[in-house]
Amino acid sequence: MKYPIEPFKIKTIQKIQRKSASERENILTNAKYNVFKIASEDVYIDLLTDSGTGAMSADQWSAIMMGDESYAGATSFFRLKKVVDEIFQFQYFVPTHQGRAAEHILNEVLVEPGHYIPSNTHFDTTEANIRACGGNPVNLPEARKSTSSPFGGNIDLEKLSRFINDVGAYNIPYGMLTITNNGAGGLPVSLDNIRGASEIYRSNEIPFFIDACRYAENSYFIKKHDERYQSQTVEEISKEVFSCCDGITMSGKKDGLVNIGGFLAVNDSELFTKIKNIAVLREGFPTYGGLSGRDLDAMAVGLKEGIEEDYLEYRTSQTAYLGEGLREIGVPVLQPFGGHAVYVDSAAMFPHIPVEDFPGITLSSALYLAGGIRSVELGSVAFAHFDEALQKIVRPPLELVRLALPRRTYTQAHLDFVVRTFGEVLENVETYKGYEITWSPEHLRHFTAEFKSKL
Ligand SMILES: *Cc1c(COP(=O)(O)O)cnc(C)c1O
Repeated sequence: MKYPIEPFKIKTIQKIQRKSASERENILTNAKYNVFKIASEDVYIDLLTDSGTGAMSADQWSAIMMGDESYAGATSFFRLKKVVDEIFQFQYFVPTHQGRAAEHILNEVLVEPGHYIPSNTHFDTTEANIRACGGNPVNLPEARKSTSSPFGGNIDLEKLSRFINDVGAYNIPYGMLTITNNGAGGLPVSLDNIRGASEIYRSNEIPFFIDACRYAENSYFIKKHDERYQSQTVEEISKEVFSCCDGITMSGKKDGLVNIGGFLAVNDSELFTKIKNIAVLREGFPTYGGLSGRDLDAMAVGLKEGIEEDYLEYRTSQTAYLGEGLREIGVPVLQPFGGHAVYVDSAAMFPHIPVEDFPGITLSSALYLAGGIRSVELGSVAFAHFDEALQKIVRPPLELVRLALPRRTYTQAHLDFVVRTFGEVLENVETYKGYEITWSPEHLRHFTAEFKSKL
């Protein structure tokens, strides 16, 4: 697999330094084997998340200097509005400080206790925001027919129809799709599937919202894998996608190529009036919404750069390059590769460690100890929970560890180093041990739980 040539050159750098092996051991012990507790200066290659961690362009930094910090009607807002209108084509939008703020406002306006909100797979903040309003998030992903289908992020349209019939459309204040599907390996959703969901929602008069954080990567995958769209631009495909829905929640920290920012866009004027009321209460005046003028300008430029096709080709190929490199040396990775991350099946990598002993923590610890690499466990620590109805612990289907790629940040040498580090871990894979939890909080325990090694 060839490494894609970066469609940019480096103008500003941030120094990174690898701590010595004994320092790394101390640091990880002090962090109680939870890599979230490690200071970033102690991390060599940081693959914890792709959210807000990318590099901005010179054009974005110069746009920041043009930021208009007026409270109301800032010029920065109108520059952002021009871009948002052009790409997304909704009647109305409010900036928010990030994606979850858009989710918060939408749910506060639409969701009553007992409501259901179906999706292909809700992101964790979306799920938490729905629950916080008394609603029930429902995931209806399409069962993967074969790993050869590139559109592994689809919703199961039959199940969606049946679900709406079962609970009644009047109990569903809106329906959703997450593109790309972060909860399903960052895999894309096909345009046919988006259209299919749209028809089902619309024929039941259910407003249809898209969680659009990685819409540009999704449109690029549609262009690449669906020959009917090969001659269309990513922007044209994106317009087609958004014409299917009634609004979007957007985190600018992903395909908006900024470190902070987001927005909520809709077509319905009555709904927008309610949204503006809550936005003023929670985020700020509707022309800045929790951001400074300069943040709005950085996002206006970032949204344009995020749909450039040479960038998206590089972005998706870089992810595939890392995935392919790991697969070649025998690391069990999920395939096909998605847009923003490579997912490793840690239970398959350490078959001697039972899932009760958190093989994902074994892998994230091993990567830090061997190379100073930070990854994130998305297995039983993040998702296992005690089900009251079933009276047992329900575990996620796979014990995944995610290697997320910050945008425009790491080079081929960095990724080759990650592959080499995995190679070192594989060499004596049977010597690694499982972990047990020594402390954990009530909610979202993967962020702060503490561990110790099993003997
Ligand atoms: C990151 C993310 C969000 C939330 O956005 P924030 O900017 O982190 O608040 C929502 N949905 C998906 C799919 C995401 O990846």
